[in-house]
Formats: sequence, C-alpha cells, structure tokens
Amino acid sequence: MPETQMLVYGLNTESADLVHISSCKSGLSELVCPQCRTQLIARMGSQNTWHFAHYNPERQLTENSRSCSYSKESELHLAGKHLFNRLVQDTGLLRLPEFTLTYKQIANSPALSTLTKNQKNFVLAKAGTNPEPSTGVSFPEVSHQIDHCELEPTEGMEGYRPDVQLSYRGQPVAYIEVVVSNDVSTKKMRHFHHQRIPVLRYIPAGKLLMTDEDMLGKAVKQRVDLEWVYHPIESSLPDSVFGEMEQFLAQREETRKQVLKNTEQGSTFSDTHLLQPDPVTWYEANLREGFRKKLEGHYQSSTGASMSNEMKAKAAHLYFNNKNYNGGITYLELARMLKF
Ligand SMILES: [Zn+2]
Repeated sequence: MPETQMLVYGLNTESADLVHISSCKSGLSELVCPQCRTQLIARMGSQNTWHFAHYNPERQLTENSRSCSYSKESELHLAGKHLFNRLVQDTGLLRLPEFTLTYKQIANSPALSTLTKNQKNFVLAKAGTNPEPSTGVSFPEVSHQIDHCELEPTEGMEGYRPDVQLSYRGQPVAYIEVVVSNDVSTKKMRHFHHQRIPVLRYIPAGKLLMTDEDMLGKAVKQRVDLEWVYHPIESSLPDSVFGEMEQFLAQREETRKQVLKNTEQGSTFSDTHLLQPDPVTWYEANLREGFRKKLEGHYQSSTGASMSNEMKAKAAHLYFNNKNYNGGITYLELARMLKF
C-alpha cells in the first residue's frame, strides 16, 4: 500500500470533525476519506502502524482508490486546520504573539501617506539606516477569546478564502493560513490587507500525524505557535506608534531653535574652524547642486538678488551645524534660518 494512503484521520460527515485513528475500533468505520469520501476501514493490528485505508467492498480489501490524490501533505494541512476547531472547543482562546512594527513596514504602509513631511522623513531615515530591521514599535502578546471556527469560509471573501476564520460573537478575530508547502501568496496577502483583520501563519508539525495518540488535543493543550502574516496596525498606525518620532522631532526642533538663537545673538559657530579655509568653497563642495539651486532660487525670488558670498558662507555654517541631524535640513529650513 502506498504510504500516501495510510491515513491517520477520518472525516465524520455528520459533525464535519476529523476523527483520530486512536479513538476508533478496528475494522470498517463510519468515517470517510476527507478527499474522495470513500468509506474508511481502520487497520489497527499489531504488525503495522495503525491507519485508515480506503474501503473496497468488491474485494473486501483496502488497496483501492489509487485515483485518490490524498497525501500526507494534504492530511497535515487538514489536521492543521482542524486544530483550530479543537482550539475553540477546548480553550476558547487564541494567543496572538508579540508583534513588532518595523520602520520598514511603516515606510511601506499606506499609512505613510497620512504622516506629516517631518514624520515621513523620520520614518524613511529610520527604515533606510536602521541596521536592525527587527527594531520598531512592539506590541505585546495578547490572548483573544474565540467562540467560532470556520474552515475555508466563503462569505464576504470575494474569492480569497483563508484556511481558517476564527471569530468571537460574530466578529472575525483572525484568519489563519495553514502552511505546509506553499506560503501565503502575495495576491492573497494584498486582499487581506484590505480587510484589516489579523492574518497569522500556522506551520503544523509532522507529529500531528502520529498514530498512537490524538495529537490535535495534545497540541492544543500545549501551545499553538503562530507567526504574524499581517497585523492591521500596518494599515492604520495609532498615535502611540509615533511616540518616539514625536519625541525625536521635538528634540530636533529644540536644537534648531538653539542654533537659531545663537545665530541671532551673533555668536560664532562652534565648528567654524572646520570650514576653513573658505566657507564659500565648502558651500560649493558640500551642498548638493540641486539643494544649492533651490536655496539660491528661493533667495532670488524672495529678495530679487543673487546670493552674496557672505550669505553663502552663512549658509555653509548653518548647513554644517545641522547636517548631522536626522536627514539633515531642508533648503526651506535653511532659508528660514537665514531669514529669507
Ligand atoms: Zn481518498
């Protein structure tokens, strides 16, 4: 008999439950193959590992259904889905693991479009320069009540069915994708993004198909480890996410005010000597051409004159003093400091 047809779970068509071989009696059962619906026979001898086989009434033997494509892979996928039925029945709780929203995710999120320019620059700089892509804003693990599990729901899914939908009091709590060989497709992912419901990945372990014990119940009693596929926070960033950002921007603003104040008081720039011998040369060499053109164009349009060397030297000092702030300064900010 091909190993692919040595099933561990049979389907009870009345309850739609998967029934484990260890809770059956040897011989012809009421259960069917989840794939081809052929009646199953439980083989529970001492020679071979316990298993179900397709029943062939004509031969009273089990080596039939060569056309059934049910495989260990399909059985593991099915067992993985049914595990969530058991989770609802046995615990009524879904553990959503800790989630870290990285700056890369924020930068790629549609939520970025709702940010101010300063916030956007902050995020992009963080996402681009952060050596630890895992750092970001963390949300702790939470447990959510669940009272209903639906496998491959169709309602409201517009053709994209998650493997499992878990809900509580009629409201969807999470979608679970049971991943055995193929990960969640990007097309499916994009669809989930519109729904703004948590999507998690469950990778069932091969031990779910052990034959001597009902491993679904055991797995539920231990812990069901899930991985985040999509957290709705990726699409709608709450203010709390921006705590660090606001703090940073406030600090930067404070420092700039200080620089501006020093400039107004006519004090010398602390790093002046670094701009020697000639601040104008430094200005030409260190400010990007596009930046200079915008700055000088702005000067031209506000004053009607070309920028003097004195102004360029001032710009060089201010630019130098501010260039290490996150993302540097914009030409408009520099113009504001130079009062034009
Ligand atoms: Zn079958």
